[in-house]
Amino acid sequence: MSDIDDIKSRLNIVDVLGGYIRLEKAGANWRANCPFHNEKSPSFMVSEDKQIWHCFGCQKGGDIFGFVMEIEGLEFREALNLLAEKAGVELKKVNPKQAAEKNRTLEILEMATKFYQAHLLQTPAGKKIMEYLQERGINEESIKDFRLGYAPNGWKNTLNFLLKKGFSENEIAKTGLLVEKNRQETNSTNYQPQTTNYYDRFRDRIIFPIADTNDKIVGYSARVAPGGDESQAKYVNSPETEVYHKSKILYGINRAKNGIRQSGTVLLVEGNTDVIASHQAGLANTVAVSGTALTPEHINIIKRYATDIRMCFDMDNAGELATKKSIKLCFEKEINVHVVQLPSGKDAAELAKNNPELLRSAVENAKPAMEYFFNAVFAKYNKEKVEDKKKITQELLEMISYLANEIEKSHWLKKLATEIDVNENTLTDMLKRASLESRVVTPSQDLSQESKIFAPSGKIETLTTDLIGLMLVYSNVWKEVLEKENLSFIPKDSLLIIMIQKGREFRFSFDELIKNIDVPFDKSRAEKIYFESRYRVGLDNELEEVILEHPLLEAKNRLQNIKYEINKNLLDKISKDLDVAKKNSDKEAVKILMEEYTKINKEQSLLNKEIN
Ligand SMILES: [Zn+2]
Repeated sequence: MSDIDDIKSRLNIVDVLGGYIRLEKAGANWRANCPFHNEKSPSFMVSEDKQIWHCFGCQKGGDIFGFVMEIEGLEFREALNLLAEKAGVELKKVNPKQAAEKNRTLEILEMATKFYQAHLLQTPAGKKIMEYLQERGINEESIKDFRLGYAPNGWKNTLNFLLKKGFSENEIAKTGLLVEKNRQETNSTNYQPQTTNYYDRFRDRIIFPIADTNDKIVGYSARVAPGGDESQAKYVNSPETEVYHKSKILYGINRAKNGIRQSGTVLLVEGNTDVIASHQAGLANTVAVSGTALTPEHINIIKRYATDIRMCFDMDNAGELATKKSIKLCFEKEINVHVVQLPSGKDAAELAKNNPELLRSAVENAKPAMEYFFNAVFAKYNKEKVEDKKKITQELLEMISYLANEIEKSHWLKKLATEIDVNENTLTDMLKRASLESRVVTPSQDLSQESKIFAPSGKIETLTTDLIGLMLVYSNVWKEVLEKENLSFIPKDSLLIIMIQKGREFRFSFDELIKNIDVPFDKSRAEKIYFESRYRVGLDNELEEVILEHPLLEAKNRLQNIKYEINKNLLDKISKDLDVAKKNSDKEAVKILMEEYTKINKEQSLLNKEIN
């Protein structure tokens, strides 16, 4: 038994939480006023049976460790110590074998980093890369500080170097530095070595080592070398390993830590070179996410050092969408967020090189995110026109709905009401209805045009969450859906993927899933969805259990609705393509598109009959 399981088996969640808040019995469960947000009627709920808690108001939830971390403001390790003492459990030293393995992995990565550095600084091929980097404005000092390197061309350079240093192929493979031969997906005709199952992941690439907060190298981001094989992905990152977790690592955090702490602010930029260039320009608090969008875990790490995030992303269409998403997350996690506006067409690295003063002042003058959105939206529309008023409201309410802080919410609602000259209560109602819908919406409900004014999360997403909820609460639904339904069309959802792959192993049990899930984000999502599917806040504000007579039918209905929505999007897209094809008199394309349209349309009318 692990220490964590041992502690959990000795402590009852009701006793632990009862030491901090007043719990009241509510049926098989317990409830309380939530200690993490302001409320008058209790929506904080504890399941003694599952030994987890969840708040329907602020959506926080977890087990005893999560609760103690949150309420005492502790790191996991500290919460573990505290609860171990309470439970009378003597913590085992961290598994010595595992610790040794981890050290070995870090040792290999350190060695590989030195190998890549040497190739950059001491070989003719590396010399060219040095010139390229310096042209991009990265000076020699930064190249050394950030330990940039070069992975030479060839299949086994890194592998052979590390083998000679006495590491086994198996150990090296665990670091993510190698690719297993038979796992390669493409039928590349390139020469591959026959003597080993592995070859180097990084070949002819500029290496940006990624370090953790303790300055240990845990992975790499590798850019294709100038003049190299441009048909390959521009950036290749290390895969997830025992030491490298994309959702938790910020590129540059090892060097930015002190700068962030001193300023209380973190500057978040887009890419590795932006980070290095910004540091060079004197912005010592700069980091970037690497190979993923901003995650809640990233924000947790940032919150340890800072109270404010300044975002500096490209503001092209894709960039703006990503920025919006990240900002919504900051709103939810209640960390201040500012938007840095760069002169159009410029990125941070470029400015840092050509005009560092301008970059520093752009960062200095960053606007609070909501102010930025207000400016952007009012610049885009004419607030005197009714149609535009609707659009303004739609776009801004969507952002406001993500604010976790009620005071801020009310401040911006008031401002919006004044600006477009609409009664504030109307906006408050719209906002309430919208957040309620996002919580209780069911797909069979026919939403009136008006209430559809905005959807905080996509319909397909909501339906998928619904389906997951049904599977988590009813283990027979989980089993049946897995065994009898076609799930191949469902858009990728990390939690659902785990449930599909491991359903049998977990015996279709929510408890088993929670015990065995490795990714904290998926775990807390599973807990949240479970609670919100099993319970709801009734009209009298009591928590009541949701009783479904035919959960399996409901699940099938969700699946059909997901398919229906996907088809609908497809049909939309095809008609747009058709318009273009017709405009261009492209008969061939029109014919293909028409056939496709008819086929899907037929499927849709069948589905439509089944759904209703
Ligand atoms: Zn709460």
